[in-house]
Amino acid sequence: MSEATRATPKRIVLKMSGEALASAASDETIDFHTVHRLAAEIVEVRETLGVEIAIVVGGGNIWRGMTGASDGMDRATSDTMGMLGTVINSLALQDALEQLGQPTRVQSAIPMPAVAEPYIRRRAIRHLEKGRVVIFAAGMGAPFFTTDTPAVLRAAEIEAQMVLKGTHGGVDGVYTADPHVDASATRYEEITFMEVVSKDLRVMDLTAITFCQDNALPILVFDIMTPGNLHRALAGEKIGTLVS
Ligand code: UDP
Repeated sequence: MSEATRATPKRIVLKMSGEALASAASDETIDFHTVHRLAAEIVEVRETLGVEIAIVVGGGNIWRGMTGASDGMDRATSDTMGMLGTVINSLALQDALEQLGQPTRVQSAIPMPAVAEPYIRRRAIRHLEKGRVVIFAAGMGAPFFTTDTPAVLRAAEIEAQMVLKGTHGGVDGVYTADPHVDASATRYEEITFMEVVSKDLRVMDLTAITFCQDNALPILVFDIMTPGNLHRALAGEKIGTLVS
């Protein structure tokens, strides 16, 4: 077990890709076994570590704006489809969390009152203080972004101490090079925002990275698909890569 030297944050935003809800073992867009395992880990850290948790889940398992745009679709329309995909994933996650008895609110950046609350910052903070998990759906509500940017923006807005970026492709942090391509690549335990930018390391979108740098918001990149890793990351074990 690695040393516990990082402090447990009080409030975080957990960013997951939509593909984290899918599974390599099935063709399903949303694999319920996977969603329930993730939900169980989120509930466990809420209860045992008392961390206030907000979540931003992407929509890449359903649609990415660039997919349509590269085939000639109007980019803004295609991005809107992507944002709606994040709403579907958010509802799947809410369902799994609530089946485990964890009160959860979905707040959508695109108003859809029959489905989710609108995004209201002060209300989101109140939910978190009451122990509810808040899921921010529909990204920024604006095209030309991915969910990385709303994840860090919401984190700053709700005064989270850290953004946790859960990876799902078998890469457990930030590496000197793509470890799938370069066998000699090594993982950084810690790295600065400046190095991420200057070395062009693919951690999150550049817009999100510079936002975090400007607002002194650390990002912990870790493999969320390994059971127990969310707990390890929040309990302060030195897993993944801390970008600060
Ligand atoms: N999207 C957007 N604005 C936002 C967030 C998302 O237009 O603020 C669209 C964009 O097309 C993006 C898609 O929603 O490709 C799905 O989000 P993302 O690519 O971040 O999903 P992930 O790769 O994390 O699953």
